[in-house]
Amino acid sequence: MHSPFLAQQQFLDNNTQYRGRFAPSPSGPLHFGSLVAALGSYLQAKSNNGLWFVRIEDIDKPREQDGARERILEGLNAFGLNWDIDQNTAEPKHASYQHCLVQSERIERYQQVLDYLIEQNLVYACQCTRKQIKASGGIYQGTCSHKHLDFAHQAIRIHLSDATLAFQDVHFGDVNSPANFATEDFIIKRRDQLFAYQLVVVVDDIDQGINQVVRGADILELTTRQLSLYKLFDVSPPSYLHLPLAVTKPGFKLSKQNHAVAINIKEPKTELLQALTFLGLPVEASPDLGSGTIEQILQWAITHWNVSNLGRKTEIII
Ligand code: GLU
Repeated sequence: MHSPFLAQQQFLDNNTQYRGRFAPSPSGPLHFGSLVAALGSYLQAKSNNGLWFVRIEDIDKPREQDGARERILEGLNAFGLNWDIDQNTAEPKHASYQHCLVQSERIERYQQVLDYLIEQNLVYACQCTRKQIKASGGIYQGTCSHKHLDFAHQAIRIHLSDATLAFQDVHFGDVNSPANFATEDFIIKRRDQLFAYQLVVVVDDIDQGINQVVRGADILELTTRQLSLYKLFDVSPPSYLHLPLAVTKPGFKLSKQNHAVAINIKEPKTELLQALTFLGLPVEASPDLGSGTIEQILQWAITHWNVSNLGRKTEIII
C-alpha cells in the first residue's frame, strides 16, 4: 500500500501560499478563549496574505453540544471572521457547515490512514484499562505492543520508535516535552471506536495543506506527538505558533467544559477590542478605533498584528 499522503506531500511541496486554520470543537459556543484563538490564527493568516479555513472538530461526538456548531459559526460571522473555501477538500454534506471541513464526515479517510498504519505494522491493539495504566505510573509502558491482539473492539496505539521530543515554536521558541510523555505509544483509535484527536488533527492538517498552525498554548506540549506522526507519515510538518491562553487562575483555562461565558455576539465590538488587547495589539493607543466598524477594526488589526507583541507567558490571567 502506498502512503495515503503522496498527493498531499506534493501539494505541500509546490504550494507557496500561507494556509492556516481555526479548528473549534463544538462542545459549546464561542467564548473569550476561543475568540482569541480564532482571531490570532486569522490575523496571522491574513497579515501573510494567506488563506484561513475553519474546521469543525466534532470527532468526539459524546462531548458535542446541540447547536454549538451553528453558534460558533454565527459567532465567527458576527466578528467578521470570514473563512476561505478550501478547493482541496470536498464540500460538507450539510449546507449549514458553510464550507468548513467536518471531521465527522471524514471517518472513511481516517480509516484509510489507519489501514495503512496496520499494514505497515505501525500500530497495535491494546486492552489495558485506564486504571491499570494509572496504577503503573500514568504513562503507558507498551504492555500490549507484542501481544498481537485482534484489532476489533480494542483501543489502537501507535508504535512509536522514533518519537519527536522537542520543537521550535514560532512564538515560544524551544519547547521540550517530557520524554516519557513524548515517547508514549498513544491511542489513535479509542476502544469506543472513535478516532482520537491526535490522529485526526494531523490527517486533516495534511489534507488541507496547512503550513502553519496557530492555536492556544494548551496544546503546546501535545505538539511533539503530532510531529511524531508527521515523521511516521514522512510528510513535512507545518510550523507551529502557540498563543498565550486566557485563564481564570493558573491552570484553569477558559473552556466550554469549564462553562466559560459565551461571548455576546450582539455587542461584538467590545469583545473584539478586548481580544485584540489580549493579543498584544496597541488598542489603547488608538482611541478612535472604537468608532470604526468591525471590518475597519479587523483591517487595522491585520496591519498592526505583530507576533513579537504577544505575551511571553503561556497563560494570562484575565
Ligand atoms: N479542537 C481543538 C479545540 O477546540 C483545537 C485543536 C487544534 O487547534 O489543533 O481545543
